Amino acid sequence: MCAKYVYYFGDGKADGASKLRNLLGGKGSNLAEMANLGLPVPPGFTITTEVCTYFYANHLTYPAELAAEVKNNLSRVEVSMGRKFGDARDPLLVSVRSGARVSMPGMMDTVLNIGLNDDTVKGLAARMGERSAWDCYRRFVQMYGDVVLGLKPESKEQIDPFEEIIDRIKAARGIKYDTELTAEDLKQLVKQFKEAVKNRLGLDFPDNPEDQLWGAIKAVFGSWNTPRAISYRQLNKIPEDWGTAVNVQAMVFGNTGERSGTGVAFTRNPATGEKVFYGEYLTNAQGEDVVAGIRTPQPVTSLAHDFPDIYKQLTDISALLEKHFHEMQDIEFTFENDRLFMLQTRDGKRTGFAAVKIAVDMVAEGLKTKEEALIKFDPDQLNQLLQPIFEPSAKQEAAAQKRIVAKGLAAGPGAATGKVVFFADEAEEMAARGEKVILIRMETSPEDIRGMNAAQGVLTARGGMTSHAALVGRQMGKVCVVGCQSLEIDYEKRLMEVGGRTVKEGDDISIDGFTGEVILGRVDTKPSEVVQVLISRTLDPKDSQVYRNFAELMKWAKEARRLGIRTNADQPDQAANAVALGAEGIGLCRTEHMFFGGDRIDWVRRMILADTVEERKEALSHILPMQRGDFKGLFEVMDGLPVTIRTLDPPLHEFLPHEDEAVEELAKQMGVSPDLIKEKVTKLAEANPMLGLRGCRLGIIYPEITEMQVRAIFEAACEVSKAGKVVKPEIMIPLVGNVNELKLQADIVHETAKQVFAEYGCQVDYLVGTMIELPRAALTADQVATMAEFFSFGTNDLTQTTYGLSRDDAGKFLPFYLEKKIIPYDPFITIDFDGVGFLMKIGVDKGRSVRANLKIGICGEHGGDPESVKFCHRLGMNYVSCSPFRVPIASIAAAQAALAEKQEMFVDK
Ligand code: PEP
Ligand code: MG
Repeated sequence: MCAKYVYYFGDGKADGASKLRNLLGGKGSNLAEMANLGLPVPPGFTITTEVCTYFYANHLTYPAELAAEVKNNLSRVEVSMGRKFGDARDPLLVSVRSGARVSMPGMMDTVLNIGLNDDTVKGLAARMGERSAWDCYRRFVQMYGDVVLGLKPESKEQIDPFEEIIDRIKAARGIKYDTELTAEDLKQLVKQFKEAVKNRLGLDFPDNPEDQLWGAIKAVFGSWNTPRAISYRQLNKIPEDWGTAVNVQAMVFGNTGERSGTGVAFTRNPATGEKVFYGEYLTNAQGEDVVAGIRTPQPVTSLAHDFPDIYKQLTDISALLEKHFHEMQDIEFTFENDRLFMLQTRDGKRTGFAAVKIAVDMVAEGLKTKEEALIKFDPDQLNQLLQPIFEPSAKQEAAAQKRIVAKGLAAGPGAATGKVVFFADEAEEMAARGEKVILIRMETSPEDIRGMNAAQGVLTARGGMTSHAALVGRQMGKVCVVGCQSLEIDYEKRLMEVGGRTVKEGDDISIDGFTGEVILGRVDTKPSEVVQVLISRTLDPKDSQVYRNFAELMKWAKEARRLGIRTNADQPDQAANAVALGAEGIGLCRTEHMFFGGDRIDWVRRMILADTVEERKEALSHILPMQRGDFKGLFEVMDGLPVTIRTLDPPLHEFLPHEDEAVEELAKQMGVSPDLIKEKVTKLAEANPMLGLRGCRLGIIYPEITEMQVRAIFEAACEVSKAGKVVKPEIMIPLVGNVNELKLQADIVHETAKQVFAEYGCQVDYLVGTMIELPRAALTADQVATMAEFFSFGTNDLTQTTYGLSRDDAGKFLPFYLEKKIIPYDPFITIDFDGVGFLMKIGVDKGRSVRANLKIGICGEHGGDPESVKFCHRLGMNYVSCSPFRVPIASIAAAQAALAEKQEMFVDK
């Protein structure tokens, strides 16, 4: 059978349906669905996405059969409408619109009123009156000129030649609105528009309707590859080869007078989710007038009064569409002389708040199942419910005042506003005085942690999504924007230049962790209700519908998922937040983050700078009780849940003082000269610290460090256990590349455990495992698993080492790689499935080949990324671990993976 390239719809039936979505695109398949439902859809046909693929693969040409198929289907439309395309007495006009598999709002082109010329306009005028007909004609020439002939300016700053002509005529006539233009004015416009085409392009405007149609089809296929469509696809991970379909449809007219109109509406409120018919319409208008903002549209509810029949039909259709699609819909409609036509329906875009409410309400109303609700839910939308957000009007005002001056990577969602501060200790001091601050740094280091904690938000000029600032920020639930390259920070002068403006310490600034935007001045925020209920406990659950809907959705996710969800947390409060948000254990406690509390950094530094084992042990003996206290705090909060604690990981150099003042103070404390300290600091510096003396290598060179940390863990475990709580420590050795490294460290763990248990007269069950974050560990996972009771994939380092791509420096060139499509997405955000993912699969398979019940998780930042979570599910992992505020997001993604598996409907990787 030869391929079918064109699918008809209309007259209560259609060739296609939603199961052909990949072929017909979203708009085409939904038009077919609406036709099949018997809704009043103007007849038309869809040219498939395969034609788009063919078009690009064959030097912008079409399959040989296409012309005949288009002709046949156009005849069907003519029969259905009782009008002929190109007929001067009563012409059929058509629209040509794009429609990809997923909606790409505003990204691709549309041409309306095709089929008009100086002859056919007369026939149209006989039908709808002179003025309306010429209004259609001038719109057509303008749109065709812009879209098909390419006269639309590239940027908003350039002037559209057609707009210029309109403005001139309006000025000459002393009128303001297009609606005030007379038929004669419109005739003038058509004439001058055509002259503009001739002058600019040396072309005669095409008068033959068939040429017009094919020109428009070509332009719409061409719009799949405009720069804006390409970047939209990149941002939304839409594959290039999907292509767009083209819909050709009989025109109906909302601009034939006061009994006609056009509108867009949602079946529920897309901002709040409330079950009300919501939208806008304009009388005597065509589609683009509603969105163009020239005339102020009316709310659709006023149709109830002005056009009660149309309103009733629309609300009935809304209910039918929701029932049919099991989803809130976004519709476009037109009414021509009191007769309603449906032009489009699609799943409506909505805020996170609306998404949760609609999901829960529609399940309660029996319009969808819990499984459907979960599968359709975009997990990242939960961010909006968990983080403070800007008051929408305040943000709009800031945008209107051009206060958005820069953009970085949105590394920690939420909205933050406060005073600019460039130094972590000052951030702490100002916060202690009750001021809200935004900490701005070139990049952050572990030393900045307390300042980060005290700040409302963190902004850095350097670093990527797994840079220190990003991962610490996320763990703390801080609003965080990183890698904002256009900041020029001058620490000495305590100011920065950004977007041509100078911002001084103490000035107000705001950052948007959802979009990465940096905004000058204050922008009011409002707190998350979910956080007020679960974390600050300042709101009673019964007073928050938002919370109750959220809790319901989370309950469904928990029932559906197989993966466990743990959290990355180093402090009891972070752990408590995560548990409140549904975490079932700690998957990573980075012990080095505990080295900065109180005056312990001094002892850490002494430990690092010690000349002898004795000196080191002396320093460690001071750190031990502090670490024990930290671990006790975690065990108490996590009562009964597993707590994975990692031994020291970063290069020691990171803990040492670098500024003169700090060096002098340490020298004084240690009773040595500052020069000596400086010399040691220089000695400890490494050319490539990420691959240097770090991870388990530290514990191998300085076993007393591991011994101290493990002792602190077991002492804490015994104390908490004796106090009646259940403790489940899992000790994790980082950066293992060879099983022998793990063996040496595991021996220390077991030996220390034995000693502590004997001293305390207490026994606590524990596990020893390792991180898999080096390719060699994954490749030799069968050997490693002989010594490891669990694996946790450290995909930050595994990505870094597999790709040979520095976590901290990649921000300088990754954007270019993405732009040039060298790689499809940032591998520090979503796992590189083909490379890093393949190593993970090897690691899982080899590990389980020698230890069938090997517990396996992930604790890199990918553990909170929905696509990566789904991948971990498919690898058969036991859990994912992510920052506290991503726990609910990971939970939904895990549920989606389990449900997709159940339905055997994997369409992606
Ligand atoms: C990792 O490498 O993925 C990891 C969790 O460890 P860190 O980010 O602390 O290096
Ligand atoms: Mg690591």
